[in-house]
Amino acid sequence: MTDLLDRIRGALVGLKMPRALEALDHTLRQLETGEITAIEAIDGLLSEEYATRETRRIDVALRTAKLLPVKTLEGFDFRFQPSLDRERIAALAQLDFIRRAEIVHFLGPPGTGKSHLATALGVAAVKAGRSVYRATLAELISALTQAEREGRLAEKIRFYARASLLIVDEIGYLPITTGGANLFFQLVNARYEKGAMILTSNRGFAEWGEVFGDPVVATALLDRLLHHAVVIQIEGASYRLRAHADLIPEHVRANAPIAPPPPPKRRGRPPKNQNGGADH
Ligand code: ADP
Ligand code: MG
Repeated sequence: MTDLLDRIRGALVGLKMPRALEALDHTLRQLETGEITAIEAIDGLLSEEYATRETRRIDVALRTAKLLPVKTLEGFDFRFQPSLDRERIAALAQLDFIRRAEIVHFLGPPGTGKSHLATALGVAAVKAGRSVYRATLAELISALTQAEREGRLAEKIRFYARASLLIVDEIGYLPITTGGANLFFQLVNARYEKGAMILTSNRGFAEWGEVFGDPVVATALLDRLLHHAVVIQIEGASYRLRAHADLIPEHVRANAPIAPPPPPKRRGRPPKNQNGGADH
């Protein structure tokens, strides 16, 4: 018996199962008193170890994916954004769009929850074991620019192309140079029909020529980013400012950043089915 137990302990150490090793004595006592059956003992030890590992895996993956601070769909108050169809978000949370390498666009004014929803879907994907990476457009372009300068552009694009979901946040806030737009285009091209993306923007697609400083690159980008795409437009008020709406002067409230962007239909190649998921 002692030999047997020593062997089990040795195996748990060798297999790097510290949590199961820790739980072993307690489990054995429960077995002896008949509190649990043998099969429950095996299940208990393995579940303990597995849960610990999953928690650690998710922690590490969320950090490397740049998904901190964590946001969840449970933490999103849909009542605050009545223009948002909860069912469509729930459908996205099934994560089939990742398998289908689709593009999800969240459009809307600042503070309407675009980054929150994008992050929450990323967190759900990490929990489901998918590889995710999140960055703002400015961060992506700055990293690509530096990589190009150092002769590592292909390598950097391969890195960004590897994640099964790439989240590109904050398109439209900062002006992009033509060189930057070209680099982003190369990345989008590398992922095209291979990997899913979530993009968030406060600007309508009609304004992308201006956002990317070049209508030709913007058109080429939209061509890829609106094929197999889901467009979710949020029309509501800023959640950040919800407690202070009365403090914001009327002329600021009426100004462009708080007003919704123009509807995506106006130009470019909008997806055929704007309300019901992907265009296949
Ligand atoms: P956006 O990216 O559209 O500018 P964020 O997603 O960053 O907006 O939202 C701003 C802040 O408000 C974040 O802390 C976010 O978690 C929170 N938030 C926004 N909308 C909601 C909501 N409907 N329910 C709960 N929290 C929200
Ligand atoms: Mg945001």
